[in-house]
Amino acid sequence: MFSRFFGKFSKDLGIDLGTSSTLVYTPDKGIVINEPSVVAINSRTDEVLAIGEEAKKMLGKTPSHIVTIKPLYEGVISDFEVTEKMLKYFIDKVHSEDFTLAPRPRVVIGIPLDITEVEKKAVEDAAKSAGARQVHLVEEPMAAAIGVRLPVTEAAATMIVDIGGGTTDIAVISLGGCVNWKNLRVAGNTLNNDIIQYVREEFNILIGEQLAEKLKIKIGSVAPLRETLEMELRGRDLITGLPKEIKVGDGQIREAITDSINQIIDNIKIILETTPPELVSDIYESGIILTGGGALLRGLAQEMSQATRIPVRVADDPLTCVVRGTGILLADAELLAKVVLPSTKEL
Ligand code: ADP
Ligand code: MG
Repeated sequence: MFSRFFGKFSKDLGIDLGTSSTLVYTPDKGIVINEPSVVAINSRTDEVLAIGEEAKKMLGKTPSHIVTIKPLYEGVISDFEVTEKMLKYFIDKVHSEDFTLAPRPRVVIGIPLDITEVEKKAVEDAAKSAGARQVHLVEEPMAAAIGVRLPVTEAAATMIVDIGGGTTDIAVISLGGCVNWKNLRVAGNTLNNDIIQYVREEFNILIGEQLAEKLKIKIGSVAPLRETLEMELRGRDLITGLPKEIKVGDGQIREAITDSINQIIDNIKIILETTPPELVSDIYESGIILTGGGALLRGLAQEMSQATRIPVRVADDPLTCVVRGTGILLADAELLAKVVLPSTKEL
């Protein structure tokens, strides 16, 4: 059984198994895969039809026998079998281009904060069945902090707020571990849904998730902008049933998402309140670092900073912090040993 896979893995890999996107890093090439975490399946035959970018294009457009699944939608692994197939597909894709053999292939995977032991084991097994012979799991905010090159093993606490698609992780990191944290189900997808609901209530128009996301990225903001932004959109009029075009402005998107943004900010305050005072004073000094795609929302850092009275900084290239962190861990065995989660082998 093992001999079949022996040598198949030619490179060490770092993987960010995100709810929106999966990224894969190799030490010699950097980020080699950055694709949506979406799988299209024929529900009659159970056959996988497409994975990643190709599957995302099918979202909301499939006939009844094809389902597009986001296996990590809720931040936890909601569909395990599909997650495994997706992981295997991406790993195979990296290795199909390489024929050299390596004796000690290792994989470092960033996983959500509050997944169960069973889910952890499932991720490990999936990576192993895709050919990995050593799998190291790291908490995503830890990987993100390492990707930002924060001093995670020192006694100076730092706070990472990672706003992804399915979840927002708020984590206080000190001495190589997450000392206080919250995994919130309010994140990028929530904002998209807020926008869908707002457009329905204000304009009687039904829009899909992809369009809502486009609105958020193109004209979304948290505080008033110097220049107003507008976008035209077409959706289905719920009264006439016909297509209808309208113009939406940044102020309206702001109104749509404000409750969810406030929930994220409130939870940061709660974490600060429940963190030991010595650590909080470190955080006041080092500031809060924003990572994940949601960090790119216009004005978010300033708004958070005002609400918490702590400096807030958006990480460079916030969408790739986690996978870059896993890459750094592949090259730094000492650091990896300090932050890696215990293996679930014993289960
Ligand atoms: P995950 O780790 O869950 O896969 P990511 O860190 O990749 O998530 O972030 C994906 C989320 O970030 C999505 O909800 C996406 O809509 C959002 N996002 C991406 N770019 C922007 C942007 N410029 N402004 C606001 N949100 C963004
Ligand atoms: Mg993420």
